[in-house]
Amino acid sequence: MSEELNPFEIAQRQLDTAAEIMQLDPAVHEFLRWPIRELHVTLAVRMDDGSTQIFHGFRVQYNDARGPSKGGLRFHPHETIDTVRALSAWMTWKTAVMDIPLGGAKGGVICNPKVMSPGELERLSRAYIRQVGRILGENLDVPAPDVYTTPQIMAWMMDEYSVLRGYNVPGMITGKPLPLGGSAGRGDATARGGMYCVREAAKLLGLKTEGMSMAIQGFGNAGQYAATLGPELLGARIVAASDSQGGVYNPKGLDPDALIAHKMETGSVVDFPGSDSITNAELLELDVDILVPAALENQITLDNVDQVKAKIVAELANGPTTPDADDILYKKGIYVIPDFLCNAGGVTVSYFEQVQNSYGYYWKELEVHKLLDEKMTTAFHSVAEAAKAYDINNRMAAYVVAVGRVAEACKLRGWV
Ligand code: NAD
Repeated sequence: MSEELNPFEIAQRQLDTAAEIMQLDPAVHEFLRWPIRELHVTLAVRMDDGSTQIFHGFRVQYNDARGPSKGGLRFHPHETIDTVRALSAWMTWKTAVMDIPLGGAKGGVICNPKVMSPGELERLSRAYIRQVGRILGENLDVPAPDVYTTPQIMAWMMDEYSVLRGYNVPGMITGKPLPLGGSAGRGDATARGGMYCVREAAKLLGLKTEGMSMAIQGFGNAGQYAATLGPELLGARIVAASDSQGGVYNPKGLDPDALIAHKMETGSVVDFPGSDSITNAELLELDVDILVPAALENQITLDNVDQVKAKIVAELANGPTTPDADDILYKKGIYVIPDFLCNAGGVTVSYFEQVQNSYGYYWKELEVHKLLDEKMTTAFHSVAEAAKAYDINNRMAAYVVAVGRVAEACKLRGWV
């Protein structure tokens, strides 16, 4: 059976289902199916060997009814405009479900950062801001890191934007290094928020997280912090992890710090001493308590959903589960914490970063953790209550909460 895998068509289909459940006004529904604006740019970048390479990039501002738009920036060889559109839609629902006063956007550049030097990455980052900077700003649209972009890239972008404006504008981007106005607690915020959600889910299910086994697909920012915070916050045991080159498994547990050190040293989790090799596909099918997709879209599909055995799926990645697979997970009684709720810790602390930048006063890490916990816990329970009230799965419940808030803002503004 063939399945729709275009992320934007998936995002639209999810919205359509939610609109039906909510009996959303047809004009509001049609308005919310599309990005409000998007910019396509072509960037010429001088490479280290003296040649000039041409790159294509995007910025999509999906909806800013609730506040300036917000969303990460991805550098990836397979980036497409439809992926960026989908991610910008999910950002809109994410800021709304968290009830933070921001809209949704996303950006991307088609490139392979793994084969680019730091100098080439810096020139590409600055070129992106020279073209896209005209639609960015702390009251307009604020980017952040995503797949294969880093705090260093945010720093170059902030500097280029400040040069263009002629004054320092730290609040135009988040996920910056601490000395340039980054927030304490931003680094691990996505994984931390996800672990708070797992804690709340376990309470609802009457389960103890202590000793639970956890498998993590994707071992970058989100995945590595999940590996250390799973044991620290939940008492969970990391039994498997993978990255784009393959995976490792040990049912007795993997030492997260040693695994991170191995990845830093060799570039991959593969061949970690004391573990067996597994493929990414096998990792998703392990008999574990908690499965954490933390890589890319379309990982749990009709092809493998029947083999998924986890009790809880905590989606740190955006769009890891297709709608058809989602229905089956729900029928199987697997508790899914949907992406734009589960991974919202990152944007929440990015929002805290914007707030701190605007008043020039910085909070301590423990304060950030406390505020993040409050925000995640409140959002988690608003979704759990909607799921119960409408008798729907958690993803649709998150849509009902988020779309309701965005629709209300659009109506109040007189847009629709
Ligand atoms: P990252 O670039 O730090 O790491 C990505 C990881 O995924 C790498 O380890 C890479 O090897 C691995 N990977 C790539 N393709 C893979 C594949 N086919 N199978 C298994 N692993 C694969 O990126 P990140 O910031 O950790 O983002 C990961 C996911 O989390 C993305 O979906 C992103 O949109 C989402 N997310 C990240 C944040 C954040 O704050 N970083 C916030 C919200 C959502």
